[in-house]
Formats: sequence, structure tokens, C-alpha cells
Amino acid sequence: MTEVDVAIVGTGFSGLGMAINLKKAGRDDFVLLEKGSDVGGTWHWNTYPGCACDVPSHLYSFSFAPNPEWPETYSKQPEIRKYLERLATDFGIRPKIRTGTTVESAAWDEEAQRWQIETSEGTVTARVVVGGMGPLSEPKTPAIEGLDSFEGETMHSARWHHDYDFKGKRVASIGTGASAIQYVPALQPEVEKLHVFQRTAPWIFPHSNRRITDTERALYRRFPLLQRLNRAGVYAGRELAVIGFVKRPKIMKYVERLAKKHMRDGLGDRTDLIDKVTPDYTIGCKRILPSNKWYPAIAKDNVELVTGSVERVTPRGVVGADGVEREVDVIVFGTGFEVTDIPAAHFIKGRDGVGLDDIWHGSPNALNGATIPGFPNLFMLLGPNTGLGHSSMVYMIESQIAYVMSALDAMDARGAATAEVRPEAVKTYNERIDRQLDGTVWNTGCASWYLDDTGRNATLWPDWTFAFRRRLARFDVASYKLEPAQAREAVTA
Ligand SMILES: Cc1cc2nc3c(=O)[nH]c(=O)nc-3n(C[C@H](O)[C@H](O)[C@H](O)COP(=O)(O)OP(=O)(O)OC[C@H]3O[C@@H](n4cnc5c(N)ncnc54)[C@H](O)[C@@H]3O)c2cc1C
Repeated sequence: MTEVDVAIVGTGFSGLGMAINLKKAGRDDFVLLEKGSDVGGTWHWNTYPGCACDVPSHLYSFSFAPNPEWPETYSKQPEIRKYLERLATDFGIRPKIRTGTTVESAAWDEEAQRWQIETSEGTVTARVVVGGMGPLSEPKTPAIEGLDSFEGETMHSARWHHDYDFKGKRVASIGTGASAIQYVPALQPEVEKLHVFQRTAPWIFPHSNRRITDTERALYRRFPLLQRLNRAGVYAGRELAVIGFVKRPKIMKYVERLAKKHMRDGLGDRTDLIDKVTPDYTIGCKRILPSNKWYPAIAKDNVELVTGSVERVTPRGVVGADGVEREVDVIVFGTGFEVTDIPAAHFIKGRDGVGLDDIWHGSPNALNGATIPGFPNLFMLLGPNTGLGHSSMVYMIESQIAYVMSALDAMDARGAATAEVRPEAVKTYNERIDRQLDGTVWNTGCASWYLDDTGRNATLWPDWTFAFRRRLARFDVASYKLEPAQAREAVTA
């Protein structure tokens, strides 16, 4: 059995960032538990062709670890993965990481005032658990009738089969979200036929990716301030989107015009596709996807865009909403992730053995996307309502890490063994979030993965990102019950 002060689950941006900050603060008694074979999280698991970030790399990276070597303004997956792997080494985190270790359950031990964590590799106990398990980490494959009977190959975009040769194959791709938008154009030139099954058309925006020149890189190396200024500029530019998403959704009608022009330009003479690819909801209600390759790819002769929900799968192919069977060799699921059905909710049990599931009932909520009543000393990173449609999740992660660090300091300063958020603080916070969500573009009537089982947007942060950062800069002690060691026994004695 391993006993540590802090157990971190996951080694993506969240887990690694947390570990680095703990180490910098001299809090060396921690472990990282990671089910994958190496660090990187999203960027370890998603290796599909064309995989890249859609927030500029200068912003989509840690503020404390700028990387002057980014080769493109929007880096590809291998570069981001390399960046995270390098940080794990450079900051001396590797000895603390246990890869190939799946957390199977975590239960609060009232007696010991510690978390008891069961992993595939044994038990770990910790005073504090930081959950960095990722909001987009558990691949979601829809339960389509007949899928089990399919005789060809199937794969999810987040678990790409690199030993499968797509050359000359007939392919069905299901889903037209952020991942499909990247792998479809990469697959199209290779395959014989590509049937793209689209339930809802996405809004696509021009992509501004470009190579970063050697001179620019040399300048960033020599004058780090230049890179910081670039980051600040990108941040400010992206933050302007909040005006359209949250404050004045009517503006989005003008943004739609730009997107429609991009659509016409990309489709060229395939004007027959315009009706099929024009979304029937306000731009921004679902994630806006940047691509200059999507429309040209689906306009190619070997691509068929099939609209509507997939009806069923047969041993040899996929039947679309039109009732027609397309025979294929492989089905690729670009169907995203379990976002609001947070996997950890099924295996984390707090006070009195109550699970996250039992209190959330399919609608996750927390204070500052991090803490939940009945779950002392548990901090989620990128928990409910921390998502962004426009800017870098790393910014949100860093804000939450600062919050956890401040919480640990506050607990130490008060000699507290446990910190547990007060239910009324969570209630007030979420009522405010719901009021803010009311007038946003995300609540204009589209079905998106932002919404949970109850139709609540449990995913996005509905305000400026700097408002989130300001909120989390200091641990709000008044929102918590702090208990000294063994206080419960003292109370009952
Ligand atoms: C294809 C793709 C592109 C994206 N592009 C962007 C972008 O451009 N900009 C942006 O801001 N965001 C983007 N995101 C969102 C992205 O997920 C976040 O930016 C960020 O990487 C999340 O980091 P994380 O550490 O919180 O989670 P993750 O990176 O998902 O890491 C979670 C880790 O926890 C591990 N884990 C989970 N459960 C367990 C368990 N039970 N036991 C042990 N280990 C476990 C997983 O193996 C994983 O390594 C993208 C997501 C995807 C999927």
C-alpha cells in the first residue's frame, strides 16, 4: 500500500500541471496515477491523422512553460504530446508517475480522514485527491443497432488503429464534430470511398494555421517577452468571442455570414451540397470548428455526405436515415466523448459511501468546477462548467491549480485535516451560473454535447475567463467547513 499526501489521477495538462506546481511549492509527497502508457492525456490518446489543437499553441500551453519551438501556430498532436512528455522530464515529475495504473475506485475513509484509492496495481491512500481525469477522455460510441454484427474493422477516433491500412478501402465515418473535421480530410485522398454520416451539420470557420518561421522561433528563444506578448494578444483576441457567445448572441448572425462565405468558397462548384451542410441552428450553439480542408474534402468525388442519424449497421455496412445500405470495410466513430456522464462519478464515493452519481443524477455541478459537498479533500480539475468554446482549457486548468494550491495552504494555516465545501455555497454558485447561461448562444435551442441529461449546460463557463481566474485566485474559506484532525471523534466523545 502506498500512502501519500496528494494523489493525482491523470497525467494530461491537468495532472502534470498540478504535479509541477506541488513540486515547485515544496510539497513533494504526491503520486500521479495514469492508466495510459505515458503522460499527455488527450494528446497521448488521440493520434488520428490530422489531430491538432484548435486554439493557438502559444496560448494552448502552460504560462510557466512557454515553448519557443512550436512549429506551427496551431500545433499537431505529436508536437503537443512531445511538449507534455518533455515537461514531465524537465520538471522531475517522472519518478512520481505510475503509468499503466487505472483508478478503479476512490472512497472517503471517515476514520482515517483520508481517501482510499483502489487501482489496478494496488491500494493508495491520500489525504487529498486531485482528479485530472479529463472532460474529453472517455470515448463515446453510440449504441447503434447491429453494430456487433459488423464483420469489418471499427475504431473510435480517440483509439486509432495505426496498423490498419486505409489505402483503397471503403470507409464509413460517423459524426461530424471536432475530430472528424480533422481526420476526414486526411483520409479522403487515401481511400476508395468515404461515406460521411452527418446527424447535424457543424459550423466551420476559416483556419488561420501557418508555419512559424525559423526567424520567429529564434526571436522567441532570444526574447521570451515577445512570445508572452503574442500569447497575450491571442488571449485577448479569443476573449472577444465571449461578447458574441454570452453577452450579445445576436452578433452571431454576422459571424454566420462569414461562415457561409467560407462554405461557398470551400465547396466550389458543388453547390448541390449547400443545403446539406448549412446548419439549422445559430452559430456558436455547438462548437465552431476551424478548417480550410473540410468543405473541399467532402466536395470530392470519392466522398458521399449522408445526412440524418445512422439507422443500423449490418454485417457488411451501414444503413443511413435514407434506408440505403453502404457496404464498407471499416467504420470510424468520430462521435466524441462521455462529457456530462463523467466516468469518475461512477467510482468516487464520499462521506457515508454516497457516490457522485447519487447526488448528481446525471447533472454534474460543483463549486468552481472543483469541489462537491460530501466529498472532503477532493478537487476536480476541469469539472462541471469549466469548458470553453473559444479559448484555451489550459488557462482554466491553471486557474484551478492555483485554487487547489491556495486551498492546501489555507488548510495548513488553520491546522485543518479536511476541507469540505458547504452545500449552500455550491447552490448559490450554480444558480448564478444558470442565470448567466440563460441568455447565451448555447441555450438557443440546439442539441449539443454541452447539455446534460436534464438539458442543463453542465459543460461551459458562461463568463469571461479572467473572471474565472479572479474568482479562483484565493481559496474562499467561508465556503468550506474545515475540520481539524479527528474532529469527528472529538465531537462524538
Ligand atoms: C482531439 C482533441 C482536441 C482538443 N483540442 C483542444 C484545443 O485545441 N484547445 C483546448 O483548449 N482544448 C482542447 N481539447 C480539450 C482537452 O481535452 C483539454 O484541453 C486538455 O487536454 C484536458 O487535459 P486534462 O489533463 O484535464 O485531461 P486529459 O488530457 O483527458 O487527461 C486525462 C488523463 O486521465 C487519465 N485517466 C482517466 N481516468 C483514469 C482512471 N480511472 N485511472 C487512471 N487514469 C485515468 C487518462 O488516461 C488521461 O491520460 C481537445 C480535446 C480533444 C479530445
